[in-house]
Amino acid sequence: MPELPEMEHYRSQLSPLLCGQRITGVTVNRAKTINEPIEAFESALRGRTILFVERKGKHLLFHLDDGHRLHLHLMLGGWLAYGEQGPKKDSHFQVILRFGDGNSLFFGGLRLGYLHRITAKAALEEMKELGPDPFDSRLTLEAFGKRLSGKKGKLKTTLTDQRFLAGIGNCYSDEICFDAKLHPAAAASSLDSASVERLYNSIRKVLVEAKEVGGYMEHPLTPDDTLTGGYNDQCRVYDRKDEPCLVCGTPIKFETLTGRKMFYCPNCQKDS
Ligand SMILES: [Zn+2]
Repeated sequence: MPELPEMEHYRSQLSPLLCGQRITGVTVNRAKTINEPIEAFESALRGRTILFVERKGKHLLFHLDDGHRLHLHLMLGGWLAYGEQGPKKDSHFQVILRFGDGNSLFFGGLRLGYLHRITAKAALEEMKELGPDPFDSRLTLEAFGKRLSGKKGKLKTTLTDQRFLAGIGNCYSDEICFDAKLHPAAAASSLDSASVERLYNSIRKVLVEAKEVGGYMEHPLTPDDTLTGGYNDQCRVYDRKDEPCLVCGTPIKFETLTGRKMFYCPNCQKDS
């Protein structure tokens, strides 16, 4: 499932392409992807202009000139493409938005994911449970430490809890724990202050690095997009079961933690 770096990468790629663009055509091939009757959705969007694209955690919000938002969550398997033509037949995509300049935005793989047209008020309501963005300037080391000390769960469970921090999922929680040399199943509230500081710095470091190399999505956004997916080869523990740790050579361990995949180095990563 795309996480903060993937969605931030989409946001930064899409912003210059979409801002100020007028929607001239809408195709919906899967009614369950949207939140109102297809006819109503299509006619409400036709003629609207996208003002800007905002990211909240793993969510994207396309702000429209009538005050509504298009709320996108890709969940598992969702992806986007942009251009004069899609990389697959139009019928492959659940929703297509066409713009006045001849380009289109293609929404693919939205089986669990969705694209909802909602009011500004509803958008606020839907986002209110989200915790702070990891890059929120108000999330100082001190504020982070306070939040963490109040958590009862394991470290990985806490990092992937969207109410604790918005945007971290299965892959980056493991990468962050590895970078911070902390065991993902350590008790979140038991970390000493040096460990909390390492964790705080690793969150920002790993997410920035991943975003800079284009995250781990497989599909490029446009035909000439060579950046997207660059992080796939850079995971140090995620999906590397039994492969040697890049630091010490110990085979990477795989376990499940409350239903989530968990990869870690049993030698490098400690409980605190
Ligand atoms: Zn190791």
